[in-house]
Amino acid sequence: MLEQTLAIIKPDAVRKKFSGAILARYEKEGFRIRAIKMRALSKGEAEGFYAVHRERPFFASLVAFMVSGPVVLVVLEREDAILGHRQLMGATDPSKAVKETLRALYGESIEFNAVHGSDSAETARFEIPYFFSTVELVG
Ligand code: GDP
Repeated sequence: MLEQTLAIIKPDAVRKKFSGAILARYEKEGFRIRAIKMRALSKGEAEGFYAVHRERPFFASLVAFMVSGPVVLVVLEREDAILGHRQLMGATDPSKAVKETLRALYGESIEFNAVHGSDSAETARFEIPYFFSTVELVG
């Protein structure tokens, strides 16, 4: 099924100049970039985005990380984009991620793991409009 998913190139990967390589990989793997923008998230935006994790012990640290520098927000479209992007990302912990996945290549720790991706259709329905209005889906 043709799907859209939200990808975020996180502050660690932007800082290390991996944004270009990650975007090139998306296109190589058949994703269409429907929308893209670089943003510095506010604390409130990061807290709202990760609200499902607010009870987790790493929540404050995760929010601090996500506001530590700009992120690249991307709406990707492809057949089975949600699961396909999760597979391309690899496991949350880069040391457990399959070789050649984005987190294996570009992540450095379970927290600083280079990329985010919607984990279900329901999550994508929340995450895409969180950052993009429909008129911004121009690609
Ligand atoms: P994801 O769907 O693979 O991104 O993983 P989760 O939804 O479980 O976690 C959201 C994000 O929180 C991850 O991508 C990491 O940046 C961070 N995170 C997850 N688990 C841990 C953890 O055990 N410790 C820390 N410090 N950060 C974590």
